This record gives sequence, C-alpha cells and structure tokens, in this order.
Amino acid sequence: MPKQSMAILCSACGADTFVRREPIYEGFSKTGETISCISCGHVFESEADVPFKDVGGPKIFSEADRSKAVEIFSSDEKGRNCRHCCHYIVNPFVQRCGLHQMEVQASDLCDSFSAKGDDDTEDDPLAKLLKG
Ligand SMILES: [Zn+2]
Repeated sequence: MPKQSMAILCSACGADTFVRREPIYEGFSKTGETISCISCGHVFESEADVPFKDVGGPKIFSEADRSKAVEIFSSDEKGRNCRHCCHYIVNPFVQRCGLHQMEVQASDLCDSFSAKGDDDTEDDPLAKLLKG
C-alpha cells in the first residue's frame, strides 16, 4: 500500500488535523473511499478536494532547471564569425577558409579571425593607376 499523506488543514473546520479514510463497499466489493476530517467529520468529495498539507513531496522544478538557457555568444564573439573574416572564401558549392585550407561555415568562430577590410582596393581608381 502506497504511503499517503494524512495531514490536512481542514477547509471545513480549519483544524490542523488528519483525515480518516474509510472504504465504501457495494456488496462485497470496494467501490471507493470516503475521506473525512477526523476533527469535524467533514467528508471531502474527492481526493483532489482534500486540503493536504504540503509535506515536501518530490519537487518538480530543481535549481538546475532554473539556470538553463545561457546565451552562448557574448558581444565580443559577435562579428568574429568566418563570414566576416578576410580569409573567408565563398563559392556556390562550398565555404572555405583561405588561411586554414578547410571547409568552414559562415557562423564558425576562428582563433585566426581577421576582419575583412572595408576598403576594396580593386575598385579604387588610384590603386589601378599605380598598378598598371
Ligand atoms: Zn474539519
């Protein structure tokens, strides 16, 4: 027989007391159970209506559950993705790192990250003149 809490704060008489469980028989078969206050005799409609005291049963939420979901990217790491790196080479089939000669993802983080420069010398008319 499972251990059941018997301690209640009776909603009828307000007593810090216990319940009495009595089986209900129909003929010779048990059909249910009455749960009543031993102080005032109030019969509770169902198990759900019994004002059981909190006896510290299993807790659904633990401390570990509360400290979940930590944001991975700090503001420092943002912008250090391969996508923003000068070594990042993208073509229709593959994304590559020109420095490490390996396939990368645009969202990868790299220790050898080097920001792509804003100045594009190939479109600089002065650079063209100097080159040729
Ligand atoms: Zn009572």
